[in-house]
Amino acid sequence: MIVVLIGPPGAGKSKQSELLKKREHVVWLSAGQLLRDKNDSLINQVMSTGGLVDDEIINTMMANMIEKISQDKIVLLDGFPRHEAQADWLIEFSRRSNRAITLVLHIHIPDEVIYDRLNLRGRMDDKPDTIADRIEEYNKNIKPIVGYFANSGIKILDINGDRSAEDVFEDIDKALHDIHQSQKR
Ligand code: AMP
Repeated sequence: MIVVLIGPPGAGKSKQSELLKKREHVVWLSAGQLLRDKNDSLINQVMSTGGLVDDEIINTMMANMIEKISQDKIVLLDGFPRHEAQADWLIEFSRRSNRAITLVLHIHIPDEVIYDRLNLRGRMDDKPDTIADRIEEYNKNIKPIVGYFANSGIKILDINGDRSAEDVFEDIDKALHDIHQSQKR
């Protein structure tokens, strides 16, 4: 099954991925990380300016990765979908590949905390103007996906991300444990 993680840049998603490595029933797929790992000069150019990589490239990449994962695992998607067209594609893909989208984990943090955290992190796309662009992209395109999934009957779990990584992890871990148990029944 598929779980979608939605949260603004700096929500601590990669820290959560570190903590989730100890959970064998969860496979984390970060669209941004998969793109960075490709180390393709054209893709890097798009990423360093805060733009979006073509849907066709990213959708194909996600499909190939998800299909490699055993059906009994939870595929936790981070950074995908990024707008409604990708969400549509994912809903269609989930039917086609018989992997239900079971849950959306929605992490909330205030904008000023996002700025503080990204300034500390300093990745290649963490420059002040790209940070502003990414917050805007989040509010305009990504956040509305939560409502879109909710309208499709998918359960949403709201998580307060303005806490320690361990506290956030506790909520995520419990939610994923519960849906994994219910799948077995
Ligand atoms: P992230 O690691 O999620 O902050 O993503 C870093 C960069 O990768 C983004 O700014 C985009 O350029 C690209 N990217 C990540 N996910 C997607 C996606 N779902 N669709 C298109 N581009 C993406």
